[in-house]
Amino acid sequence: MEQANATAGAPVHSMVTRRRCPECDGDNLEWGDSMRNTSGVVDGRLRMHDVACEFFLGCCDCSETVLVVAAGDVAAFLTAETYG
Ligand SMILES: [Zn+2]
Repeated sequence: MEQANATAGAPVHSMVTRRRCPECDGDNLEWGDSMRNTSGVVDGRLRMHDVACEFFLGCCDCSETVLVVAAGDVAAFLTAETYG
């Protein structure tokens, strides 16, 4: 599964409403996590503030990246869903 080049920022409510791939209309979707270099500093010289965690929803059939959501938005969503 390829990682998106788009920046994180998808509306967090779309995390639960996306059920199909917009490219191939498949429903074989899977969440993954990754760290993104936000500074342009070369790998190996990065500091903690140079990277950001994000989650992405990918299509297992065609490798399309369906959504990219910042980890902070996922945490806020889970808190709201769990504790109201
Ligand atoms: Zn697809």
